[in-house]
Parts: sequence; C-alpha cells; structure tokens
Amino acid sequence: MRVKITLACTECKQRNYNMTKDKKAHPDRMETKKYCRFCKKHTMHKETR
Ligand SMILES: [Zn+2]
Repeated sequence: MRVKITLACTECKQRNYNMTKDKKAHPDRMETKKYCRFCKKHTMHKETR
C-alpha cells in the first residue's frame, strides 16, 4: 500500500521532492535528509499533503 507524498524543505519550505511511501512502514509524517537546491545543502525534508 503506497501513497504519493510531497517532501518540503524545513528551512526554505520549498517542495522539492515527490515520492511514494509505504503507509504501513511510515504511518506518520516522514522526515528525510535530502539535498535542497534552494538552500544548496542537505536539509531535513518533511512530508506535506
Ligand atoms: Zn531548502
């Protein structure tokens, strides 16, 4: 059971990534460290909807 999510940078709030996640493995909002091209560094990205 996979759902589409959007990941937004927690520093600049830009929505940088679209991906799918396994809702069983991650029932809550996910946080992932990813490269933000607006901050030009790796930042925490949070799931938005
Ligand atoms: Zn950013």
